[in-house]
Amino acid sequence: MVDSDTMGAPAACHFDLHCHSTVSDGVLAPTEVVRRASANGVTVLALTDHDELAGLAEAAAAARESGIRFVPGVEISVTWGEITIHIVGLGIDPADSALQERLAGLRTSRGRRAERIAAEFDSLGIGGTLAGAYGYAENPQLIGRAHFARFLVERGVARDVAAVFRQYLVRGKPGYVPQQWADLADAVAWIRAAGGRAVVAHPGRYKLSRAELRQFLAEFRAAGGEGIEVVTGSHSPDQYLEFARLAREFDFLASRGSDFHGPDESPIDLGRLPALPADLKPVWHDW
Ligand code: AMP
Ligand code: MN
Ligand code: MN
Ligand code: MN
Repeated sequence: MVDSDTMGAPAACHFDLHCHSTVSDGVLAPTEVVRRASANGVTVLALTDHDELAGLAEAAAAARESGIRFVPGVEISVTWGEITIHIVGLGIDPADSALQERLAGLRTSRGRRAERIAAEFDSLGIGGTLAGAYGYAENPQLIGRAHFARFLVERGVARDVAAVFRQYLVRGKPGYVPQQWADLADAVAWIRAAGGRAVVAHPGRYKLSRAELRQFLAEFRAAGGEGIEVVTGSHSPDQYLEFARLAREFDFLASRGSDFHGPDESPIDLGRLPALPADLKPVWHDW
């Protein structure tokens, strides 16, 4: 299944513009992510680790070796109103010092959140989760809920990571702690100043009413956001259509990415995605 893109080029490219490595909460090292993507037929790959650029150099080198094109990316955690939204930056300069500094700030706040999460589990009688979670974080600078979830599976608290996220770590469940991430307009500005294009990650995953979603998309656009993910591992086929409509209505560029975290944790493997609806303008239209 090398090509499901039908954008007209004879040797069509196969894009996957959202995935994770061990530098954030993926389970494969950047080199392994690139090799797996290439083996799955991806010809243009973006690595988009959460709030961290440390995997980009290794991934770029692996992409050169595999003969595929690499797009440096990032997935920035944002707080909009009360909810967390993820903004993907594509084509950013990994050496941009302002972006690096801002992301370092987010990582520091992740460390403090981890302490609060662990304290919550302590009070539930589930001890040792801070060290346990860090045991799953190959990059100690980037700790996230997925690392806690993996440790909680090891401890037998739930069957798998998905089950942990149904029972714990989310709003309204034990182990959840609120967190203030970046401001929406700031995150978009950091991406643009670093030469990148800002894209809303998996817009179907947020608990927003229709009116709130539209308000959010309008604000994102006004802040300089250019695209939304239409085809992602986090959307159902119905949502591909729903967000294709919104991309047309708001005149957003459309993106496509698996959001792959690991072979056993992700609904869709690297590159195993249907094509974008042919009338949408892809985020890669001028690459
Ligand atoms: P964080 O940025 O540390 O708050 O964690 C967000 C990450 O947790 C996401 O990028 C996913 O990797 C993971 N995650 C969130 N919700 C779920 C879920 N329902 N099932 C599996 N993983 C999830
Ligand atoms: Mn993640
Ligand atoms: Mn995300
Ligand atoms: Mn992601």
